[in-house]
Amino acid sequence: MRNRRAVLSAARFGRPVTRLEIARTTGLSAATVSGLVAGLIADGVLVELDWRIPAAGVAGGRPAAALAVNSALGTLIGIHLAHAGIRILLAGVDGTVRAEHTHYIDVDHRPADTLEYAASTALDLVADLGIPHRKLLGVGVAVSAPVLLHSQTLGSPPMLNDWGEVDIAPRLRKRMGLPVHLRNDADLGALAEWRLGAAASADNLVYVMLSEGVGAGLVLQGRLYDGDAGAAGELGHVTVVPDGQVCRCGSRGCLKTVVGARALATTLAHSHGSVRGFTDLIDLAHRGDPGVRRLLGDAGRAVGTALAPICTVLNPELVVIGGTLAQTGEPLLNGIRETLTRGVSPVTNRTPDVLPGTLGTRAEALGAVITANQFADLG
Ligand SMILES: [Zn+2]
Repeated sequence: MRNRRAVLSAARFGRPVTRLEIARTTGLSAATVSGLVAGLIADGVLVELDWRIPAAGVAGGRPAAALAVNSALGTLIGIHLAHAGIRILLAGVDGTVRAEHTHYIDVDHRPADTLEYAASTALDLVADLGIPHRKLLGVGVAVSAPVLLHSQTLGSPPMLNDWGEVDIAPRLRKRMGLPVHLRNDADLGALAEWRLGAAASADNLVYVMLSEGVGAGLVLQGRLYDGDAGAAGELGHVTVVPDGQVCRCGSRGCLKTVVGARALATTLAHSHGSVRGFTDLIDLAHRGDPGVRRLLGDAGRAVGTALAPICTVLNPELVVIGGTLAQTGEPLLNGIRETLTRGVSPVTNRTPDVLPGTLGTRAEALGAVITANQFADLG
């Protein structure tokens, strides 16, 4: 049974695999994998797709049959509770998104309303698709705060204003009648870009989420890195201006106080009047506004300043930039590249590539779906 679970876990979610890849991942022999895969196909858990995967890194290797988890097994729910709104995704175990809903709401100040809205909307989407409750496999929740993984509670001090006393997972579990797993949103963005997006071929990467919240997720040697208390990757609270603005966390000059939505709008107020959040900023950036391009270049350089020592220490292959601000494009990315080129020590041999995420602002909710899938009982 343990080997069967190992094979299934190697084949899980969104990235079809070959028998050879399963053998490599699990360390099981080709014959054992072949027998277990046959059993899982016979039980309807795995399916053989009608296309083949080219052999990677094997001279003369032949393309092999692609295996995936059977999408008919059930549906997963991903919820992203960001600072400025909620995103809800319904997806199959093969990674196909079946329904999506976004809603702008002040998440920071209305925990009870927000959770009720998220639960009822997700269940409405399920009903709209005619999915029976027994076909729901679980819920993943991405939150803009550190999460203590063992207790499934928010770390202290809570960065969302009124959320300190709210037990998110038990409340949603009771309301939805499903298993619920909670994780930090930037960590889940990293998981999604690694499994499904821009970093699909890298096993060492830093994902940076630049939205109303600022954070990072780390994948190191093929595993999402949690840190001691589940709070790894709090890039938004790395000091970049020693005597800068006071941050909600109690430090001064945190990256978040420099590149957060409010900070960017304040910096533009003198020259551009009222800029309403990221929507206006993205629009102005795409129209080539020189002041906004300068602002975004400076924001990128601030992000690079926080990232450079991390890249020197961890030696990642890739830095993936996600979140709403990533939609502003090249001025921001070039600012980051410029600072990393200058700031990452030559002893690491190369500066990591900096790429925009390919999953957009969906990444965190997709990561929530993946984490729900990791805990689901597929048989
Ligand atoms: Zn801070």
